[in-house]
Amino acid sequence: MHRYIADSRRDFLHKTSTKIAKNHSLIYVEDLKVSNMSASASGTKESPGKNVRQKSGLNRSILDQGWYSFFRMLSYKLKQRGGKLIKVDPRNTSRTCPRCGLVSAENRKSQATFACIGCGFRSNADEVGAINILRAGQARLACGMSGAVRPLSAGTRGDLLQH
Ligand SMILES: [Zn+2]
Repeated sequence: MHRYIADSRRDFLHKTSTKIAKNHSLIYVEDLKVSNMSASASGTKESPGKNVRQKSGLNRSILDQGWYSFFRMLSYKLKQRGGKLIKVDPRNTSRTCPRCGLVSAENRKSQATFACIGCGFRSNADEVGAINILRAGQARLACGMSGAVRPLSAGTRGDLLQH
């Protein structure tokens, strides 16, 4: 049974990483070494010491147990195609408002909801995490910075790299 589960997981991780590597050249993820395995696909992270994410489906639960393998596969498959996997510091990716930049644990109302206590911006919490990971990754790619999670200065994607 264990072997069957392990083989199924590996198969799923290979198929998924191949599919993603074929369709994308740059992928940004939270650095699991830093986040201590509490990251998710969307890049959100609860307060330190807590890892109580709701399992929303089979794929997610498989991934939750296979992030290291998945990122390793994704990394070499991207490299083979001339792409790149970029890891970013996961600090505050789930707590930073993408609109005004306010960092607060209170911005994260629930597992699913982000609502900024500063400017009132509301969105899906996973989407907010993904936006913040993207920005941190692009900043890192552009100027070698790490841990940079910054708000949009004028509400356009073109401003992502401005400091
Ligand atoms: Zn805000």
